[in-house]
Amino acid sequence: MSKTIIIGGGIIGLFSAYYLHKSGWEVEIIDRGDLSDNCSYGNAGMITPSHFVPLAAPGMVEQGIRWMFNSRSPFYVKPSLDPGLVGWGLKFLKSATKKHVEHSAGALRDISILSKKLYREFEKDSGIDFGLQDKGILMLFKSPKAEQEEQHLAEKATNLGLDAQYLSPGECRKLQPGVEMDILGAVHYHCDAHLHPNSLMAGLVKYLAAAEGVTIHRNTEIVKIAHDTNKITSVSSDDKEFKGDAYVVAAGAWSPAIARLAGLRVPLMPGKGYSFMVGQDDAKRMTIPSILCEARVAVTPMNGSIRYGGTMEIGKINGQVNMNRVKGIVESVPKYFPNFKPEVPQKKDIWFGFRPVSPDGMPYIGLSGKYNNLAIATGHAMIGLSLGPATGRLINDVLNGGKPTMNIDVFSPGRFQ
Ligand SMILES: Cc1cc2nc3c(=O)[nH]c(=O)nc-3n(C[C@H](O)[C@H](O)[C@H](O)COP(=O)(O)OP(=O)(O)OC[C@H]3O[C@@H](n4cnc5c(N)ncnc54)[C@H](O)[C@@H]3O)c2cc1C
Repeated sequence: MSKTIIIGGGIIGLFSAYYLHKSGWEVEIIDRGDLSDNCSYGNAGMITPSHFVPLAAPGMVEQGIRWMFNSRSPFYVKPSLDPGLVGWGLKFLKSATKKHVEHSAGALRDISILSKKLYREFEKDSGIDFGLQDKGILMLFKSPKAEQEEQHLAEKATNLGLDAQYLSPGECRKLQPGVEMDILGAVHYHCDAHLHPNSLMAGLVKYLAAAEGVTIHRNTEIVKIAHDTNKITSVSSDDKEFKGDAYVVAAGAWSPAIARLAGLRVPLMPGKGYSFMVGQDDAKRMTIPSILCEARVAVTPMNGSIRYGGTMEIGKINGQVNMNRVKGIVESVPKYFPNFKPEVPQKKDIWFGFRPVSPDGMPYIGLSGKYNNLAIATGHAMIGLSLGPATGRLINDVLNGGKPTMNIDVFSPGRFQ
C-alpha cells in the first residue's frame, strides 16, 4: 500500500485524507495544532456556487482603498513594505481584471457544484450529521448601487446555469415569517447550501481517526523538507521524520512557509476574519443564511444559534482581536434585521481564523510542478469550506495519476513560479 503524508488538518487536508484513504492509500495527517480549531471551524458554513467571481476582480482595488480609511470596514490591508505583501499586492492588481473574472467563473462554478454534490455523498457515506441544508443563501441589499451590482451578478449566475432569483422585500419576508427586514431587495441563490462547520470538522476528525490505515499526528509542526531533484523524500518536525510515497501541503495560511522549505513559491496572504455566535430566539426565526451585501457580513443560522462573521484583514498572522472591526459587524446587523440586536461580544467569545488568500483569488490545486510526488491544496480564501470535498477528490485524482474529475488547469500551483 502506498502512503501519503498530509501537512495540515483543516478542511482541505482532512478531505484529501478522506478521498485518498477511500482509494486505498495509507494516510498520515500531521498538524501543528490539536485539530480542535483552525480556520475551518468558526467560518460562516456557507456552500456557495454563487461565489463564482474571484476576490481579484475589477472594482476591488478602489473599494479596498476606500475601506482602508475606515476602522470598522470589512476589508483592510495593513500597509507594510514586507516583500511577501508587496509581491502579493502587485499580483492582485494585475489579476483584478474583467478578463480574469471571465476566465475563472466557469471553473469556480464547476468546482463548487462538484463539491456540493460530494457533500451529500459524504453525508450518506460517513453517517455524520453536520446540519447540511439546501435552503440557498440570500444576498440582502439596501442601496440602489448594491442592487444594481447584485442584479448584474444574478444575471451572470443565471447565464452560468445557476439558480438565482430576484426577490422584493415582501417576497423575502414571506420566506422567513417573523424575521423583520429593512432592505431594498434580495437575490436568493437556490444553488447554495449551508452546514455547521464545527460538527463537520469534529465528525471528520473522528471518522478518520477510527479508519484503518489513517494516522493523525497532533501538535507536530513540520519544519524541514528533504528532497531530490524531482521528488520529496521526507518531511520532519523537530524530533521526527515522516516518509511517504506522496506528500500534500494543505497548511492553509501557513502554506507559503512550508512550500519555501522545498524551494517553492506559493504566493498567499493570511486574511483574518472574525465570527461569534448569538442567541436562541433569533435562530428559531431565521432559517436561511444571508450575506449583508454593503457590510460584507455573513449571517448563518446553525446548531440552534446564529453565527455572524466577516472582515478580511490582509496582514501577517497575529493573535490580536481588533474590536473596531467586530463592532463593525455588530452594528451592521440591525440595519438589515431591525429586530436582531446582537451585543458586542466579549473578547473571549470572539473566534478568528486566517483565510489562505491567493493573489488572483483562485485556489492552488494540483501537483507542485517541480516535484512529481508533491501536491499543493490551498489558497481557497473565502470558499475553503465550500470547496473542501472537491479539492480532496481532485488531490486524490492527481496523486493516483488519473485524469482529474474536472479540468484543473486554472488552479495550477505553478502559475506564479
Ligand atoms: C470569518 C470567516 C468566514 C468564512 N466563511 C466561509 C464560508 O461561509 N464558506 C466557505 O467556503 N469558506 C468560508 N471561510 C473560509 C474557510 O474557512 C477557509 O477557506 C478554510 O477553512 C481553509 O481551510 P484550510 O484547510 O486550507 O486551512 P486551515 O483550516 O487553516 O487548516 C490549516 C492547518 O494547517 C496546520 N499547519 C500550519 N502549518 C503547519 C506546519 N508547519 N506543520 C503542520 N501543520 C501545520 C494548521 O495548524 C491548521 O490546522 C471563512 C473564513 C473566515 C475567517
